[in-house]
Amino acid sequence: MLKIENIALVTFDLDDTLYPERYYVLGGFKNVASLLAPNDRSAADALYDTMLDMHRDGQRDIFQRILADFCSDPAAERLDELLNCYRLSNRPLNLFADANHALDRFGLAVPHLAILTDGYLLAQQKKVELLNLQSRVEKIIYTDDYGRDYWKPSPHGFELLMNEFQLSPTQCLYIADNEAKDFAGPNRLGWRTVKIIRPDGVYADAIAEEPLFKPEFTLTTLDDLELVGS
Ligand SMILES: [Mg+2]
Repeated sequence: MLKIENIALVTFDLDDTLYPERYYVLGGFKNVASLLAPNDRSAADALYDTMLDMHRDGQRDIFQRILADFCSDPAAERLDELLNCYRLSNRPLNLFADANHALDRFGLAVPHLAILTDGYLLAQQKKVELLNLQSRVEKIIYTDDYGRDYWKPSPHGFELLMNEFQLSPTQCLYIADNEAKDFAGPNRLGWRTVKIIRPDGVYADAIAEEPLFKPEFTLTTLDDLELVGS
């Protein structure tokens, strides 16, 4: 059990920290496949498999490629339609069990809980709604509200939280999964940081070389973290 004391604010990352992002991605691909092949189940299944393969290969621009390959008229509006269909999915999402438990436990142990998440604003808001997280934390920072320059690893959102709650950096803890971008901002400010390993996470393989990007602690389940408030 890892015990961290004198904490007044716990801030969680969203994707692959509180819920499995893979389910969101797969659900979005299913929606897009149904949109493109509404009356043809086998064509929709083939499209879904193609998107899945591209995603597994780490390909970018999946929807552009799908449109170019499968549509005679790959208009720009069509791409927006696909992106919205993917991002605004209503498919149910579930919290990781340890994250659900941690929200309850840390809510009792420390004065303030927050979420700080990157990503397209409307999509992140949709995920928060689907996971019923509004009522479980005091503050949610969507870095996209401030523009792409303020996405992680920018420390901007973390500074906003510290100022809002009038805290010193060592009273603040960030829990997240992705070494490529999650910890540099809070580390720069002097926050405590914990990485949660999610083996099926979309960014599970991201390992940072620079010390600034490394978490202070690494855990495989949030059930192994005990916090003492300040
Ligand atoms: Mg994440």
